[in-house]
Amino acid sequence: TIYNVGSINLDHLYQLDHFVRPGETMASDSYQCLLGGKGANQSVALAKAGADVKHVGAVHHSDQAVIDQLESLGVNTDLIKRVDTATGHAIIQLTKAAENSIILYQGANHTLSEAQIDQVLSSASAGDWVLLQNETNLIEYTMRKAQQHQVKVAFNPAPMDAELTKHVLEFVDLLIVNEVEGMDLMGTTDIDSTIAAFPKAYPELAVLMTLGKAGVCYFSGNETLSVDAFSVDAVDTTAAGDTFIGYCLSSLMSGDDMTQAITRACAASAICVTRLGAASSIPTQDEVTAFLAE
Ligand code: ADP
Repeated sequence: TIYNVGSINLDHLYQLDHFVRPGETMASDSYQCLLGGKGANQSVALAKAGADVKHVGAVHHSDQAVIDQLESLGVNTDLIKRVDTATGHAIIQLTKAAENSIILYQGANHTLSEAQIDQVLSSASAGDWVLLQNETNLIEYTMRKAQQHQVKVAFNPAPMDAELTKHVLEFVDLLIVNEVEGMDLMGTTDIDSTIAAFPKAYPELAVLMTLGKAGVCYFSGNETLSVDAFSVDAVDTTAAGDTFIGYCLSSLMSGDDMTQAITRACAASAICVTRLGAASSIPTQDEVTAFLAE
């Protein structure tokens, strides 16, 4: 089982000619409300990849539809709390020039309690994983508890908070970052020096760093691996990283080695970038298998 302790957001998307100006009221005739949040996206990717995923999080009492949607995509929702705080959400203005302007309300995503985490981890067993991003509260607490229960910790520190991340790395078994997050963490300005800096600073840590269309590199101790991305016509890279993480962890948990897991995850995220949208652009296992057979 993988316990994904993560955000659940509703993304309210409005298409507009231009951003709303101070004092202006603007009508939009294009509105969509989509399931989002890195946590929920990664749970959906894990489920689509065939993993046994339990999402740990919180939504407002009135948002049963969000829970139903996650459940319908194969995510176990028994550990999602119903709270009085509004469900996390983003108000997104999208202009014709494809620029966006976003208000993010963390809401219920920051109402996780120690009792909830304790309950989750008391049912976990050795061999299980906990996955976290940086969109919920109690990150260090959750990692400490996971370590006490001999549950492995995967951490995708997005959005990046370098101070918090460095502080909790001692609890992390697998760190997953993109190149910008990797550079923020190491205080470097290019990819090569980032790749060199990680093992020096954290010799014990296993790191997966995704490099967009340049692929992925992995390093752990003396082992280094790099895998190219698949060449596709990208139209929207939203959720590429989330797709990668879900597929890679699912593959590792099913016993694949790191090269196999990265390759499968690169295929899944290559398909994802050819489609518009977030959770809806994450491919199924069958689609990934067919893509790899091409
Ligand atoms: P994030 O979305 O978190 O910034 P990346 O941009 O590094 O993450 O993308 C994650 C993975 O998705 C990459 O490692 C790669 O395998 C795949 N990917 C991203 N962009 C492309 C692209 N243009 N073509 C093919 N694969 C891509």
